[in-house]
Amino acid sequence: MASSAASGRPVRTRIAPSPTGDPHLGTAYVALFNRCFAHRHGGSFVLRIEDTDRERSSKRFERGILDALGWLGLDWDEGPGRDGGNGPYRQSERGGIYAEKIRVLLEKGHAFHCFCDENRLSKLRSEQMRLKLQPGYDGHCLGLSKEEVAARLSRGERHVIRLRVPREGDCVFDDLLRGEIRIDWPQIDMAVLIKSDGMPTYHFANVVDDHLMGISHVIRGEEWISSVPKHVLLYDCFGWERPVFCHLPLLRNPDKSKLSKRKNPTSIGYYQAMGYLPEALVNYLGNMGWSLPGGEEKFSQAEMRDNFELERISLGGPIFDRKKLDWLNGRYLRENLDDAEFARAFAAWAFQAWKIGGIAPLVRQRVGKFSDVAALAGFLLQGDLALSAGDFSHQQLDADSCRRILQFSLWALENTPDFSRDAIETRLRQLAEKMDLKIRNFLFPLFVAISGRAVSLSVYDAIAAIGPDLARARLRGAIEALGGISNKQQKKLEKEFRLLRDKPAA
Ligand code: GLU
Repeated sequence: MASSAASGRPVRTRIAPSPTGDPHLGTAYVALFNRCFAHRHGGSFVLRIEDTDRERSSKRFERGILDALGWLGLDWDEGPGRDGGNGPYRQSERGGIYAEKIRVLLEKGHAFHCFCDENRLSKLRSEQMRLKLQPGYDGHCLGLSKEEVAARLSRGERHVIRLRVPREGDCVFDDLLRGEIRIDWPQIDMAVLIKSDGMPTYHFANVVDDHLMGISHVIRGEEWISSVPKHVLLYDCFGWERPVFCHLPLLRNPDKSKLSKRKNPTSIGYYQAMGYLPEALVNYLGNMGWSLPGGEEKFSQAEMRDNFELERISLGGPIFDRKKLDWLNGRYLRENLDDAEFARAFAAWAFQAWKIGGIAPLVRQRVGKFSDVAALAGFLLQGDLALSAGDFSHQQLDADSCRRILQFSLWALENTPDFSRDAIETRLRQLAEKMDLKIRNFLFPLFVAISGRAVSLSVYDAIAAIGPDLARARLRGAIEALGGISNKQQKKLEKEFRLLRDKPAA
């Protein structure tokens, strides 16, 4: 089995998140393990932003990742804002590097131009499915002569560049926690390396950057194991030394399913908005598959680093259990803070400028004195609301209709990048119209879900004031209070929602 010490290379680890969504707990978990390992061995921990998917990446999501890592104390030694001489650290700024490296692969014959259009590829896929064959590219364009390729390129024909993958034999690589892994080459697709828009794909950019940034250990979630054959092939084609691969077990919900936002809030912002201490959350993540040699579950990041060994990670799926996190966070509040520190930390959380700034304009016009504020706006500072199905009883809406409104609103708000009051109002009004519901009725379950009451401050204002993470959690909490939605119903609702979304606004 590979050892965690790379062959005499300086230890350099990295995380490489894609800024395509809210900062995820999984990113913090992988960052923590990479950071502890690098620092234990006197090495560096690098942050690289993998933003080659132009449509789905955004600066807002990138900011969210940087802020969340900063809040958790998982800052990086090299990366955006901290140049270590290996930048740029955003893939969107490294286009020239990929262009140069793909030329090398094309010249050596390890990569080839492919002109197959979507029509041919989809026919190929259906045919392979019909014959119960492994779906994948069949090597059609490998048969083109050099002259033909040159002529088609000079005509400006749309194309991609693919990796030439052996059609026989095994791919063999080591994973630090699993030992030797063998996969037949014919199971590996001739992956696209450069897309038709000229942007590199994940596989290509990731390997080129890991090599050029001197990454000695690739420590990441186990969902990436299936990508390793393409990656090791790229290392070998370039003649580069492979890094040590170590795939961490996926975080799971208490029912053992993969951690998902339907069952557990996965956005780091949620834990921040709920008032967890960052050091307690990081400590809890340190218990995911790893433990201090003595078994004590409460430890600082420095203690984790000083005792950290990758070999001691257990592969049994670690469970992210909110109750356990609450217990640990409670210990931090009791054991690590005295009264004065607690008061300071609480005030810093409760009176954050964005929160108080959001509440002031809502309540100022409606109260006579400060002591009226809590009764009117206390729900804006609460976490989960204890609701029951009875809270949603309404003359014209049954539980099913309420669940439908709540679930559709949740999806509509998930796709509202600008979480301003006006954007929220526009989204929800459009949705009510498309659902053919009177706005009063439509808003009723939302009022209850967000504020716990049937009448309160404007629900649009309240959603904007509590922010996207708490708003989503409360909508989910309300759906649960109404008995939840089964997987089958969920599928049906998804379909209906897609139809509604595509329906032109009245
Ligand atoms: N960009 C990938 C992600 O979003 C990186 C995976 C890796 O660590 O190789 O997680």
